[in-house]
Amino acid sequence: MSHDHEGSAAVSNRVKLLVTALQERSVLTEAQLDDTVEKLLLHSKPANAFAMVARSWVDAAYKARLLADANAAAAELGIDLSHWSPVKLRAVENTPVSHKVIVCTLCSCYPIALLGPSPTWYKSEAYRSRVVRDPRSVLAEFGVSLPDEKEITVWDSTAEVRYLVIPQRPAATENATEAQLAAMITRNGLIGTALL
Ligand code: FE
Repeated sequence: MSHDHEGSAAVSNRVKLLVTALQERSVLTEAQLDDTVEKLLLHSKPANAFAMVARSWVDAAYKARLLADANAAAAELGIDLSHWSPVKLRAVENTPVSHKVIVCTLCSCYPIALLGPSPTWYKSEAYRSRVVRDPRSVLAEFGVSLPDEKEITVWDSTAEVRYLVIPQRPAATENATEAQLAAMITRNGLIGTALL
């Protein structure tokens, strides 16, 4: 998948030309294309990642596997990211001393196969340029005020690697079920622009 900076009209025009060329050469059938798009659009939703994060909070061994190989950890829960290959998902964990936030400074790369479409602000020039230079101020605008001593690490997505933030488990949830924990997670929490 390309990682260019053209306008969406130019990109969609190129996609149309490419699809036509592939179909004319019998490299790709319309059914295969429909199948891929359907997988992306129908099965990509934040609930996928909510389930992964909630599992990681109740199962330390699962969290270790999630941090080591997020694609395999997704597959364990029946979330198939194989159609997204060769893009790899990498989970990064918030801790008491370190907060993580994700961005794509070059364009708008995002864990779309897992979460679905990205929010508009994620694609904005303002977010992409400012969160790298001054993450603390940008996070404050999202209502996330972090103490000065807490380190903020910004993970810049690429065409090959997309990031997922594992938020800290909310306080006083010792008795919560996995499903209850999953319901406490937000999409922005997975990007790092919200606390839970
Ligand atoms: Fe990008």
